[in-house]
Amino acid sequence: MSTVRLRFAPSPTGYLHVGGARTALFNWLLARKQGGTFVLRIEDTDVARSTQESVDAILQGMEWLGLDWDEGPFYQSERFPVYKEFVEKLLAEGKAYKCYCTPEELEERRELAMREGRKPKYDGTCRNRTGELPDRPYTVRFKAPYEGVTAFDDLIKGRIAFNNEELDDLIIQRSDGTPTYNFVVVIDDATMGITTVIRGDDHVNNTPRQILLYEALGYPVPRFAHVPMILGADKTRLSKRHGATSVMAYRDMGFLPEAMVNYLVRLGWSHGDEEIFSRDDLIEKFSIEAVGKSAGVFNPDKLLWLNHHYIKESAPERLAELLVPFLKERGVDPAAGPRLPLVVKTLQERSRTMVEMADGAIFYYKGDFAYEEQAAAKHFVPDAAPLLAALAGKLEALADFSQTGIEALFKEFIAYKGIKLGQVGPAVRVALCGGTASPGIYEVVEALGREETVARLRRAVAFIAG
Ligand code: GLU
Repeated sequence: MSTVRLRFAPSPTGYLHVGGARTALFNWLLARKQGGTFVLRIEDTDVARSTQESVDAILQGMEWLGLDWDEGPFYQSERFPVYKEFVEKLLAEGKAYKCYCTPEELEERRELAMREGRKPKYDGTCRNRTGELPDRPYTVRFKAPYEGVTAFDDLIKGRIAFNNEELDDLIIQRSDGTPTYNFVVVIDDATMGITTVIRGDDHVNNTPRQILLYEALGYPVPRFAHVPMILGADKTRLSKRHGATSVMAYRDMGFLPEAMVNYLVRLGWSHGDEEIFSRDDLIEKFSIEAVGKSAGVFNPDKLLWLNHHYIKESAPERLAELLVPFLKERGVDPAAGPRLPLVVKTLQERSRTMVEMADGAIFYYKGDFAYEEQAAAKHFVPDAAPLLAALAGKLEALADFSQTGIEALFKEFIAYKGIKLGQVGPAVRVALCGGTASPGIYEVVEALGREETVARLRRAVAFIAG
């Protein structure tokens, strides 16, 4: 086991967003590639906004994508004593100080600084104070250096440097005793031995402050990789305006997890011009250095294309299992008709999502459909009735009721009648499926089975006569 340790650290304030899922995926891939450890940490220090429901939704999203974690989930809300200890340590070492300035005083000084054209940063009143004010509430501030530069080599963005002058004396503990975000992230990543931090680039500005904390605490600074955000087609940050942003919404829209994983990884990462990657491929080929510097644009058509690919490739038995909830949603009982894997097989080529597959499967299970008006008008002509009746009789007596047997029967039938398949095929299709868009006739006949096929042909004959 290598000592490489990565983590995903979501804040449970909503569902698992596609951007978060991609961050989790990159971390997971790197951990798996390097034989390292993948840690899951729930950043729930913001008690007002964190919910158990969101935690569950995030875990569910990760499980759906197959991103298994080796340690955790750890909850920051359960680690307050640890954070407290580190605040005390920094205070004792003189690397942090108690700040008694009230919010009103701070606001006043901030406004003054702005008026005088100075940077509105903390003025150091309590940094320079000697002695304590025992009866006054206080925050704890980190004593950051006023001079010098804090820099790091981002694995994606390259070298990033900040002048320490621009950084503030960060509050690490609020006046109510709770620790602040930038502080707990460092304590956790340091004590959990995280070696590489992959996260969204909205955290770039936090990184120098965090680095200074690692240094003050005497912990090694991890490597950082800040992933560019995901944009919608109009090049603005991906949001609900562009469509679903929750990973689980994509499951409900009929996407397969392997399509989602393949899609997410390509949003920012590339390997030559390859598009299709199995999980093992990804573990072998992924590298964080090959993630691009520019933001990925979410392209629903490409996701559909990938999903179609994986639907075509999947075992019908597996798809059948996944299809059941979609059918039930449509009021279809899959036990009341042909065996589902058989039905799936007829629909794989023509379904881009499981929703399309479910819609396409309904006619197998609900034979009492109304015929599509235009299709019936065009193909249910008087001449069609005797042909459909004759076919019904022949199918009733067919010994080999397999696709090959059925196809042979149709060919023999049209040769004998001296007609072309086009003169009877569409009417058969409308009779069996209700419309003209359907899988191949022979497949449909085989999947429906003898009894149902014959019944539907005779129903059409009666319809034409009536
Ligand atoms: N909890 C943070 C977020 O959800 C992530 C912090 C980090 O990865 O360092 O944005």
